[in-house]
Amino acid sequence: MARRRRQNKLTLTTVIAALILLAVINLVESNNLMPENKAVEVSSQDSTVEVHFIDVGQGDSIYIKTPSQDILIDAGERGDTVVNYLNNLNVEDLELVIGTHPHSDHIGGLINVFEEIPVKEVMDPGVVHTSKTFEDYLTLIDEKDIIYTVVRAGIKRTYDDGTVLEILSPENPDEEKLNDASIAARLTFGEISFLFAGDAEVPSEKKMLEAGYNLKSTVLKAGHHGSSTSTSKEFLEAVSPEAVVIMCGAGNTYGHPHKETLAKLEAAGIKVYRTDLMGTIIVETNGSTYDIMYEYGKGN
Ligand SMILES: [Zn+2]
Repeated sequence: MARRRRQNKLTLTTVIAALILLAVINLVESNNLMPENKAVEVSSQDSTVEVHFIDVGQGDSIYIKTPSQDILIDAGERGDTVVNYLNNLNVEDLELVIGTHPHSDHIGGLINVFEEIPVKEVMDPGVVHTSKTFEDYLTLIDEKDIIYTVVRAGIKRTYDDGTVLEILSPENPDEEKLNDASIAARLTFGEISFLFAGDAEVPSEKKMLEAGYNLKSTVLKAGHHGSSTSTSKEFLEAVSPEAVVIMCGAGNTYGHPHKETLAKLEAAGIKVYRTDLMGTIIVETNGSTYDIMYEYGKGN
């Protein structure tokens, strides 16, 4: 039994080492693809981008459909919720999956996604977590031959369909602070932009501010389920969103969203959309205007 366990461990170590090596190569390649600052033009009047904030209870999952890409950020806890959601939309494959950080309420459901839906590439902050969930997630990335790219703040991808994806965080992730290791990303389509903060907390927000990135976004997915440890006043002012989406489960034991966060948003006159009260929230945009739809309940 002892020998068997050691063997499993060795295998996992090998897998991680191989993945990290591959990731370093990919990191270099991604950097080479850094923007030439192409002018962003929305290709045609009727092309749209849809962003689905999928109700997965306490956790995050965001599906983004651009004219050319199917992108998924996180998939909540382990289970079929997100796979079923994507199947209902007839999503045949995903060009990109972002696993923001190794906590199970973000990457758990990605295990089910990897098993059921072909994925071309996974972006990950490259921090190791000693959980069975993280182990299964990495093993599947390896088994399914998915490109594994470790990303850092500053990477930018410009797609031919007019969308731009920028990675704003992490800069130097710390395995002891997994929330702050979260990938935070900004997606722009014409004049409309989205900032997906993962579980980034105030220290990450500070780094994004100090780096001088353009954080201004039409819609902000609030960091860490609306916790008071995220969405600082300074960060909120820099993002200056028209709408904030908070993803959390009804009656969750963390008390998310925290009242301090809600008070801050209310004081700033920002519309708040919550998955615990409204279910799945969908934003659709043509690059100049946008609509927000949700399953049930009422906004503030
Ligand atoms: Zn979380």
